[in-house]
Amino acid sequence: MLQDILLTDEERALKKEVRDFVKNEVSPDLTKKLDRDEIRYPREFVKSLGDRNLLGLRFQKKYGGRGQTWTGEIAALEEIGVLGTALGCAFAMPSIVGEALHTFGTEEQKEKFLKPLLKGDLISAEALTEPRGGSDFFGATTRAEYKNGYFTVRGQKRFVVAADGADFFIVYCNTNPSGKPHERISLILIEKDREGVEAKYLYGLLGTRGGGTGRLVFRDVKVPESNLIGGLNEGAAIFNTMMVPERLTSAGASLGMGRAALEVAVRYSDRRKAFGQKIRSFQGVSFKVADAITQLDAARALTIAAGKSVDAGLPSARRLVSEAKKCATDAAWNISNLSMQIIGGIGYTNVYPIEKMVRDARLIQIWTGTNDIMNLLIQHEFYREVLNDRNPGRMIEVDAPEGHMDDEKVYEDDDMWTKGW
Ligand SMILES: Cc1cc2nc3c(=O)[nH]c(=O)nc-3n(C[C@H](O)[C@H](O)[C@H](O)COP(=O)(O)OP(=O)(O)OC[C@H]3O[C@@H](n4cnc5c(N)ncnc54)[C@H](O)[C@@H]3O)c2cc1C
Repeated sequence: MLQDILLTDEERALKKEVRDFVKNEVSPDLTKKLDRDEIRYPREFVKSLGDRNLLGLRFQKKYGGRGQTWTGEIAALEEIGVLGTALGCAFAMPSIVGEALHTFGTEEQKEKFLKPLLKGDLISAEALTEPRGGSDFFGATTRAEYKNGYFTVRGQKRFVVAADGADFFIVYCNTNPSGKPHERISLILIEKDREGVEAKYLYGLLGTRGGGTGRLVFRDVKVPESNLIGGLNEGAAIFNTMMVPERLTSAGASLGMGRAALEVAVRYSDRRKAFGQKIRSFQGVSFKVADAITQLDAARALTIAAGKSVDAGLPSARRLVSEAKKCATDAAWNISNLSMQIIGGIGYTNVYPIEKMVRDARLIQIWTGTNDIMNLLIQHEFYREVLNDRNPGRMIEVDAPEGHMDDEKVYEDDDMWTKGW
């Protein structure tokens, strides 16, 4: 297995622990009820993870984490991802919200919110997206006005997972409307039971059901300044830091989704017969398996490399995280579709779980920053890296036989009049 060369013994042991939990401790009744929208939020599932010390694995032990590497967390995420996006998200949320509290929170906030979060005693949610849009994050219009030790928060957030199940939300608010976009935003923790907080609408979703995804309304909610996470108008730095777990958890869970779907297809194609032979003997089938596992291994290697680059604090980490999110979520989508194709008609029914994986996988290309936004970030970072490289490798332009023909190297209108005239 690819993981054998990518994981340490400790990380492999963690992976096995989570694999055993997923296999033996999560009832099929839970996954089915979630998909039927019979559960508003899988609170008991989160509690059972907390009881096993499996939440927020990267955080310091004194707050309830395990001091793990990103590689370890990704390995755990791959196992959880087998359960689909709703439970994957429930596992990931303490890692995402916890990042803001762990890195930027006060000791008091860590005691009051981070520790119970990692025990599974409190459920959290993150509120970034607004009805006016999610991609243009810095255009947030939810206002928080400060006066006499309190913020008054007014606005709406959309598509918040656990809008209906969380005990508290971390909400990005505009606290400085006249400032530059990156100096406008602050992060404020708002408890669900504060007056003026309402989960106004729950969405009917294609997949990822049972997570209580809804629209939140904040009607002049009074919040003490002790609930501000980080500095006033310094939300941009928190957002950038939080986007690492936001995207790496999507990538990590995608690996499990793709793997689980593919394994169903592999087992099926080894039994199902057509034209008197097992369908795996047709190249049209077995080459799909080859394509799928190649995509999965590439996504897995890239995701773990991205995690290692974050742990090492490498400058390219931002690009690699975005690449991993795009590559792994696209792989999960492709692989679940290939798996459905391999199984044929019965794969489109709910007799097999592939149709659910397809529904779940479609979301992960959209949330935590769409894959278009990943492309925006990736190209931006790569242009910056190449154009600012003070010690580039061989400039292969010199190897072109006619590479000396500078007159022919026309880049803009003016060159036509200054060169080769
Ligand atoms: C089930 C579900 C759960 C979610 N969970 C949460 C959550 O818990 N918390 C939360 O805050 N949000 C959550 N989201 C929101 C999600 O992150 C957003 O839907 C996503 O970021 C896109 O925002 P949008 O839907 O407003 O689309 P828009 O921002 O309106 O974008 C629409 C389209 O335009 C494209 N686009 C926009 N700008 C650009 C650009 N500059 N370059 C190229 N293309 C561009 C986008 O890629 C997209 O295709 C969830 C969404 C869903 C559906």
